[in-house]
Amino acid sequence: MSDAVYIGLGSNLGDRERHLRDALAALSRIDAVAVLGCSSLYDSAPVGPAQPRYLNAVAKLECSLGPQRLLGILHEIEKDLGRERRERWAPRPIDLDILMWDEHVVAEASLQVPHLEMHKRRFVLEPLCELEPDLLHPLLGATVCELLARCPHQDVVRLDSDHWCGVWQELTE
Ligand code: ADP
Ligand code: MG
Repeated sequence: MSDAVYIGLGSNLGDRERHLRDALAALSRIDAVAVLGCSSLYDSAPVGPAQPRYLNAVAKLECSLGPQRLLGILHEIEKDLGRERRERWAPRPIDLDILMWDEHVVAEASLQVPHLEMHKRRFVLEPLCELEPDLLHPLLGATVCELLARCPHQDVVRLDSDHWCGVWQELTE
């Protein structure tokens, strides 16, 4: 049994697009995971203390692993791509979050799905809405598209890039 899982990718250190690409490539190499699609790239202002701007995207995966197993894999990929876990909010080459797991709920100490902040963040909602506007947030009872309509303005710019489309499509073949 495979589930559709939505992953948020973010980078604000070094070659940001390359880090997003490398993270997707690492995911696509895992037998139990397939990358089904990816949103456009979004350039966004950081949340919290001053730090460089982020490049964000959301990817749709098919995954036959459990949520904790996938979280462990995401942490390994973050580490392989040079992320050091120091203080929160620090600039990072890559941040990988599980946003939604179909319409399931996970409420564990180390993992909450849907991601607890997703409905407040346009850099998550805009790319997610591009991929799956009718996906229902199981706790808020609203679709991703409705959540986006309720979310206040934030500095998030969609980048128009055919190049990026080619990059992730290559990984899905
Ligand atoms: P953030 O993503 O909030 O900037 P981190 O990436 O350092 O911070 O994540 C901190 C912790 O958040 C992780 O160690 C993980 O256990 C926890 N966490 C809880 N829910 C999720 C989720 N849905 N996706 C990813 N991490 C999560
Ligand atoms: Mg994270």
